[in-house]
Amino acid sequence: MGYKINRMTDKIKEAALILKRSKFTTAYTGAGISVESGIPPFRGDGGLWGKYDPAVLDIRYFLADPAGSWVVIKDIFYDFFSAAKPNKAHLTLARMEQEGMLGRIITQNIDNLHQEAGSRMVFEFHGNSKNLRCTHCRRTYIAGEISLDHFPPTCRECGGILKPDFVFFGEAIPQLPLTAAYEAASISDVFLIIGTTGEVMPANQIPVMAKEYGATIIEVNPQPSNYTQNITDIFLQGKATEIMEKLAVHLFSPSLDDNQDGIN
Ligand SMILES: [Zn+2]
Repeated sequence: MGYKINRMTDKIKEAALILKRSKFTTAYTGAGISVESGIPPFRGDGGLWGKYDPAVLDIRYFLADPAGSWVVIKDIFYDFFSAAKPNKAHLTLARMEQEGMLGRIITQNIDNLHQEAGSRMVFEFHGNSKNLRCTHCRRTYIAGEISLDHFPPTCRECGGILKPDFVFFGEAIPQLPLTAAYEAASISDVFLIIGTTGEVMPANQIPVMAKEYGATIIEVNPQPSNYTQNITDIFLQGKATEIMEKLAVHLFSPSLDDNQDGIN
C-alpha cells in the first residue's frame, strides 16, 4: 500500500515537472472530468443511454419529431445539466491557463463547465448545450433566454425550430474545433488526457495524432483506457478531481519544485 502511494506521488511529481517545462500543453477532456460535477456520462454503467433512447439525439429523428425529442432533451440537458458547477479538475485547468501552463482545451463535453471554471481557450468538439440554434436561419440563442414551456421552442426571428447547439448523431463535427484540435495535435509538447477512454470517433484519434507528432501523453483516468497501453507515457490512475488537486500542489508551488530540482 505504502509503496503504491509513493509510486503515485513520484508519477505526479514527474507529470508536474513535464507540464512546467512544456512550451505548449493541450488538455483533452471527456465525460470523466464532469462526472464529479454530477453530470452522468452517456455511456457505461449509470450512463444516460441506460435511461434514455439515444435516438432523440439523432438529427433525422429530431427533425421528424422535434416536440417529442425536446421533452427528453429538456429533461436531460436543461433541468439537470444546468445545476452542475465546475469541480477542482476544471478549476485547476483554468488556473493552469492563467499561469501560462496550458495552451488550449479540446473537450468532447457539451456542459460548458470549462468556461464556467474560467478557461478561455476551449474548443468543443461536440458543441455546447448552453446555446440553441435555429434550424432554419441559424441564429443562436442562450438557452436560458428561451422559454421551454412549449415544445419545440421556436426562433423569434423566423419561427424555425430551435435545436441545442451540440452535435447530434448524424451531424458533422464543426470545422473550428476540428481545425483547433488537429493544430493542437501537431504543436503540443504535452497532451493531458482527462476523463476520456477514447471510444468516440473521430475525436479519439486526436491524442493518437499528438503522440505521432512527438507529444508526451499524460493520462488521468480512474481505469486504464484504450490509450493507456498504446500511447500513454504517464498514467495517473484516479478520479479527475483527486489527481488534478495533487498535480496542482506541485504545479503552483514553486518552492516545492525548486527543492526537488536542486535549484536552491
Ligand atoms: Zn430562425
